[in-house]
Formats: sequence, C-alpha cells, structure tokens
Amino acid sequence: MTERKIKNTDRIYEKDSAVSVFTASVLSCDGAEGEYKAVLDRTAFFPTGGGQSCDLGTLDGIEVRDVRIENGEIVHVLSEPIEIGKAVVGRINYEEREEKMRSHTAEHILSSVLHKKYGLSNVGFHLGTVDTTCDFDGVLTAEQLNDAEDEVNRIIRENHPVCPVFPSENELKTLEYRSKLELTEDVRIVVIGENGEIDKCACCAPHVKETGKIGLFKIVDGYKYKGGTRLHILTGQKALERARADFEGIKALSVLLSAKPNGSDVISAVNRLLDDLKALKSDLNASNMRINELVCASLGGRDPALIFDNRSDTQVLRSLCLSALDSVGTAVVFGRDGEKYSFVIAGGNAGGIFEKMKKSLNVRGGGKDVICGTVFATEGEIKTIFDGGNV
Ligand SMILES: [Zn+2]
Repeated sequence: MTERKIKNTDRIYEKDSAVSVFTASVLSCDGAEGEYKAVLDRTAFFPTGGGQSCDLGTLDGIEVRDVRIENGEIVHVLSEPIEIGKAVVGRINYEEREEKMRSHTAEHILSSVLHKKYGLSNVGFHLGTVDTTCDFDGVLTAEQLNDAEDEVNRIIRENHPVCPVFPSENELKTLEYRSKLELTEDVRIVVIGENGEIDKCACCAPHVKETGKIGLFKIVDGYKYKGGTRLHILTGQKALERARADFEGIKALSVLLSAKPNGSDVISAVNRLLDDLKALKSDLNASNMRINELVCASLGGRDPALIFDNRSDTQVLRSLCLSALDSVGTAVVFGRDGEKYSFVIAGGNAGGIFEKMKKSLNVRGGGKDVICGTVFATEGEIKTIFDGGNV
C-alpha cells in the first residue's frame, strides 16, 4: 500500500499505531439526515484504501460509520452532526484494528520472503473480514509455500521491530524499498528489522510494532490466479480459531470412520471407503445387467414391450429399455420411484406412445430417440392407457 495525498488532517495512525483514543478539533461537518461528514485536525482513524477497510469507532460517543478519503480529505461519516470547532474524543475499535495490523504486517513479511526467495512481487492485497488475500506475479509449488510459511513464522518469532520512517526526497534516491508506484514525496516506508534487513516497503497503513505481536501465521489456501498465485492467509487469533475448527472437524470425522484423529489416518479411511464404494458400484452394475438380461428373456415377443421395474435409476431403466429393443420394435419401461414412476420409451412407436400418455396422464419429460420422464400415476392407471398391455 502506498501513500495517498491528504490535506488538513494530521494522521496519527501513520506515526503511532498504538493510539486508540485521541482528542481532535472538528474542522468541518457537512451532510444531511443519517450521514454527516466530519473532517478533524488530527485522527487515529485509518481511512479505507489500498485493500484495507477503515477503522470504525466513535467521536464523542457518536458512531463513526465509515472513514474515507474524499477530495484529499479524511472524512469521518457520522450518524449525527457534530459541532464545528469543538474538541472531541475519538475512540477506534482497537480489537479489530489489531487484527488488521497483524494480517497487514504479515503480508509485508510474506511479500518480502517471496520476493527474496523467488523474485515475486505482490500485485494485489485485500484485507477481508474472513481472511486476507495476497496476489503474486508467479506460480508457486506447495513445497515453496511451506518454505515461505516456515520463514514468515520464524521472522515473527524473532520479534523484529516494525517502524515507519519518512525519508526525504534525497534519501529516497538511494533507498531500496518495495513499492507499487514510483513515489518522490511524502513517502512513508515501513521498515522491518533493526536495519530493515527483513523488509522495507512504502505503505501508509498501521502495522504492529514488533513482528512477535502477529502470532501464528498460516497460509490456508493457494491457487493459480491471473497467471500468478492468490494466497489466503490468517494470523493471530483467526489462525488459531481456524486451526481449532479444522482439528475438531478431523476429530469428528475420525469418530465416524473409526480412525485415529489425525489427517493422514482419516484420509486413509476415506480412501478405503471410496475403494469399497467403487467395488459395490461394480457389483451393482453387474447385477443390473444380469437382471436386464432375465427381464428381456421373459418378454415373450409382446410389442410394444411394457415393463414395470422396482429400480428407479434412469440409467438402469434406459439400459433395460435399449436391451429390450433387441427383441421388440418398441419398449416402454416404468421404474417405481416412491409415489411416481420414472419411464423410458424407445423404438419405432415411442413418439406415438408418449403422445397418448400425455393426453391421459400427468406426465413430465421428453426426448427424441429415447424419451425419458416422470409420470404421476399408479400401475393400474398406466396399464389402462396401454389397454392391459397393448397400445
Ligand atoms: Zn503496510
């Protein structure tokens, strides 16, 4: 995230991210019922920008619904008007801010690690309510991601300082730092490590003051995205909660599968179930084929062949219908499916039979060479149409 031109307001959040309560004077307040926009001489509220949503909280007890940059000013959107010139107390929702600072600082470290290790650049960032997404301009293997995750967690544990610095235009000329834009003035560099050995990046958002405050860092998803890679990351309490939920999920699955409560044993148990299912499907298929042969052998040359079956799988009924065509000109198969019947019609008179069924019964379906559908009727009602078996 890079600097944004701001006028009139001193940005406390850029200098000290630990400030959650502050005093300020109201420079202006415009608006109408339900939405008043106040500009302050100083603020600790971070305005929405660069992939990060704004801080929320209160000004003199009035709810701050949104904080955004409009025409170069930081605008606090309030539910009630506030007196111009008045000294006010601002309070930001610091628990939410800390969560954002953890994820944001982790993103800097991750971007630096992937830049140094694999020469990738961060090309997208979004700090969402569920997780944080970071986009990189290259494809990464699962092994590389694990390596990067280990490295980020190591840097977090080493508890390096995180400091914002404001270099002059001259100092900037010789300073190497990560940035999305060519900047020349009012540039704020976030330095991680005593001498910036971990990272130096142009950014205007608040960050934690030591990497140790980030806590656990976890890449929870990663996939190819627009020719590069999109990563979903979690930090601190959110990472812990996700890990806990996943552990509980594995534990519940292990009970259902009578397996040990760990990922590899649960996967082995699921694979065994899938193998069993495959074998059962194969046996069922063979049984269905055998039943179809026996049904076809008992048709006795009646044409059209009218077959009632207790199986409801349309593919099975279709297979039976087509097999019947070896010995008859037209075959009609009904498969009981609860209170209704699935049906398949094929052969020379299929269209005529379907039209006759539609005239007298509640029928849904269609098709060209093979007509499939559902009929809401009893076996007796269906047989009436076929005149006791003959159309
Ligand atoms: Zn940042």
